[in-house]
Amino acid sequence: MVTDKNCRMCNASETLQKSHIIPRSYFKSLKDKRGQLFSVTCGGTSEAKLTNSDPKEYLLCRECEQYLSEIFERYGTRLLKDRRKVKRSGDCVIFENFRFKEFYLYLISILWRASISGLSKYKHINLGDEINHLLCHCLRENKIKIQTSLRLDHFFKISLIRIVDKTGQIDEDAIRKTMIDLNFERGEKLDDGILYYFMVDGFLILYHFSSEKDIHTVRTKKNFAQILNKDRLYVPISDLGDFKQLADGFSSLTKHAVKHNKR
Ligand SMILES: [Zn+2]
Repeated sequence: MVTDKNCRMCNASETLQKSHIIPRSYFKSLKDKRGQLFSVTCGGTSEAKLTNSDPKEYLLCRECEQYLSEIFERYGTRLLKDRRKVKRSGDCVIFENFRFKEFYLYLISILWRASISGLSKYKHINLGDEINHLLCHCLRENKIKIQTSLRLDHFFKISLIRIVDKTGQIDEDAIRKTMIDLNFERGEKLDDGILYYFMVDGFLILYHFSSEKDIHTVRTKKNFAQILNKDRLYVPISDLGDFKQLADGFSSLTKHAVKHNKR
């Protein structure tokens, strides 16, 4: 199919590919295993809506699409999916030989795509032109460093948390088969910044966009479960109930299922 828009990454006026915001492999495995996808509406009454849609749009040329897929996505999707490589230790899962830059930029590519997306589904995710350009630049150059002693992960701190239901009501498999699409939440204070999140394969991914003014604090402050540039990644296991948005989402999902089964 042909479209006259330019590629959002390299600006070439090539024929654009239909891009997915959340990588296609997740939708594929969700469909195979009859997984569920729901989106949590943010603000006030958080209500979960079940959707089966797998939205695509023309964003990138074939070359850029392949670049993102080969350099970041392949590793990123496999890391969370391949259970054999995961070790459990107490309240953590451990990934050995962790490739930080690839995984970090893989997650950034998802947020960036959602941010530049024209789909109504992602209209609440908008980082603004300046940030979009910065993210795009880091992705294209395959680097996190912005300038001397300043890195993208100083501003976008990404946390990875394994989600379980410690009450035992929702089993691990059901959590893994549920995807929560990208959403955001503002901190209570302005300085708290904004939190973007989504959940796939039983992992909650949090992007904390810091609006902290003090550069020293920006550089040194670490968040809970923040992924770091180390060979070994420790991912804490947390209870669903610790995250209000998720817990609300799952509870309306359960209500939905109950209603559905009664029909
Ligand atoms: Zn391109």
